Amino acid sequence: MSPLLESYAAGRWFRAPDEGRPILDATSGEEVARVSSQGLDHSAVVAHARDVGGPAVRALTFHERAGILKALATDLGQLTDELYALSLHTGATRRDSAVDVDGGIGTVFSYASKARRELPDDMVVLDGALEQLGRRGTFVGQHLYASRPGVAVQINAFNFPVWGMLEKLAPAFLAGLPSIVKPASQTAYVTAAVVRRIIESGLLPEGSLQLVCGTTGTLLDHLGAQDSVGFTGSAHTAGILRRHPSVLDHGVRLGVEADSLNCSILGLDVTADSPELDLFVKGVVTEMTVKTGQKCTAIRRIIVPEALADEVTEAISARLAAVTVGDPADESVRMGPLVSLEQRDQVRTAIEKLRGGADIAYGDPAHVEVVGADAQRGAFLSPVLLRARPGADEPHDVEPFGPVSTVMTYGSNAEAIALAARGRGSLVGSLVTHDPGVARDVVLGLAPWHGRILVLDRDDAAESTGHGSPLPTLVHGGPGRAGGGEELGGIRSVLNHMQRTAVQASPDAMTAITRRWTKGSARTVDGAHPFRKSLRELRVGDTIESATRTVTLDDIDQFAELTGDTFYAHTDPEAAAANPLFGGIVAHGYLVVSLAGGLFVEPNPGPVLANFGVDNLRFLTPVKADDTIRVTLVAKQITARANADYGEVRWDAVVTNQDDDPVATYDVLTLVAKTWPPEG
Ligand code: NDP
Repeated sequence: MSPLLESYAAGRWFRAPDEGRPILDATSGEEVARVSSQGLDHSAVVAHARDVGGPAVRALTFHERAGILKALATDLGQLTDELYALSLHTGATRRDSAVDVDGGIGTVFSYASKARRELPDDMVVLDGALEQLGRRGTFVGQHLYASRPGVAVQINAFNFPVWGMLEKLAPAFLAGLPSIVKPASQTAYVTAAVVRRIIESGLLPEGSLQLVCGTTGTLLDHLGAQDSVGFTGSAHTAGILRRHPSVLDHGVRLGVEADSLNCSILGLDVTADSPELDLFVKGVVTEMTVKTGQKCTAIRRIIVPEALADEVTEAISARLAAVTVGDPADESVRMGPLVSLEQRDQVRTAIEKLRGGADIAYGDPAHVEVVGADAQRGAFLSPVLLRARPGADEPHDVEPFGPVSTVMTYGSNAEAIALAARGRGSLVGSLVTHDPGVARDVVLGLAPWHGRILVLDRDDAAESTGHGSPLPTLVHGGPGRAGGGEELGGIRSVLNHMQRTAVQASPDAMTAITRRWTKGSARTVDGAHPFRKSLRELRVGDTIESATRTVTLDDIDQFAELTGDTFYAHTDPEAAAANPLFGGIVAHGYLVVSLAGGLFVEPNPGPVLANFGVDNLRFLTPVKADDTIRVTLVAKQITARANADYGEVRWDAVVTNQDDDPVATYDVLTLVAKTWPPEG
């Protein structure tokens, strides 16, 4: 008998006492694994995540968590051959597995790098600007995101056993949540191999990742208001989860990514000679055949202008005829079997339903030529293209989760949008057009119904990642029928796992809470120039109060001459006097900022290594000849960089005039050595 998959629960591998349910190879029908979670103590799993895993992850800063994810992705890179081999049992070709295996590992790398660049080296994320709530500035507000002391349960679909797990794990881990992964039983042996490797690597803190192979049992009963469930799968199961008492009554957050009748629209501008026609046909065939059409993002509805319908149907059919179906291990095979015989039965049933409103244009659901395998034992199915009859409902209701799609026609942009909307909400839609007007009209019409929209044309085709590929940096999820959830989208998905809170406090309290200097809070002016302090010595609030400098007309003239910026407001007294905002010659904003640099600089070699930019620069009050300016610079935020001898310091800069009016405000960004003089 094949091995019974073990769960990783409460710090040890758990093997159910029964024989478990057999899982069969998609091609040969032979047993690959058995699955059972009988006897698993689900309450202990949740308690372990909450009491052991959660506190360990939350003790780390975002940058430390990112460092662990990067190491984990690097380590998993060594497992790819094994995962490719295992995935053959699921029916996946090498090309299919690249999407799942390399796509999953790439997603973890992407999150690691985004977190380093976009999140602070801290445990709290600030959201938006400080709000001044009182006139005197002693009462301020700040939105922030904090980690929740909960657990993230992740219930995944069968079609992406690696990517599906990693794309949920990475953001949850960054957010400080321990994960309990429940893979779909049909392909759980692939997920289990990944989890085993991660656990054996020792990279993740104990308790931050657990695995439940089998059913969820009572798992959800033990969840509460700080916990979340992320689900990918059928609308039917999503409905069961939505009605679960933990979700209905106990505040468990549920994110759903369910089935979706995604469409691809060929623009009205496209003619038989346009390169866009070929791009469209290729895109449809790719989406029908990759993963044997078992992709939540696959194109199920092909929406084309009436005049091109026959041509498109023929072109897609011709390409489908060239798709070799068979053993996914055979290199000549383009499309493997569906994941199981049950799944094939479901797809055949869906095709029968679709035929209520559409006719088959290509393919025979009952028969397919198969290379290198037994057509009877494997879950093979021919690609099937249908042509909808006018006004048919079925193509907008029935999801065939396989290599099946339906062509339908339209006459105007509004009609195409209306057809797309009949899917009642999709993960992704694509529009193939080279007409800017069509692009704007149709995209704005599609947007409310879609989580992501690809606009494909001859200009972006070579670099395009295609209709069906979710990207770590872009939102994955969709409204309505697609489940209403939102995954990926860069740091958005990390923040979705955290709690946003509006904090109201005094400036000093706010600085202490956020570890970022807040306007109005205490500053340190101790005589030592902060540019002489290394990162280790520098403290938030350390301040430079500069000397003053009077800006002369000669300064303005010289700056104009030096830079070539002879805009009339700096050079032509008459024209400047007529300017309603200035009423006379004013200094260049960049002159003011340059003079401020001269006022706050400490010129000798020291720990400040470089100035790498400014953020949020605003010129507030014009500076005229003979105005006197000064600058105050406060260390606002200090971020040590891992694996570097330096870190980043953000300085709050305010330039004021002789009346104490702010003339310019901005953040100065510098790189500062961790020690000075450098150690060693
Ligand atoms: P399911 O909804 O049956 O399964 C998805 C996940 O939910 C699996 O891990 C499954 O576990 C688990 N699950 C099933 N029932 C429950 C329950 N009562 N409580 C908690 N967890 C549960 O989808 P399938 O994978 O079987 O696919 C069926 C259909 O769903 C497809 O034909 C397709 O239409 C759609 N689908 C959509 C996907 C998408 O990404 N949008 C992806 C995959 C499928 P177990 O496997 O152990 O039953």
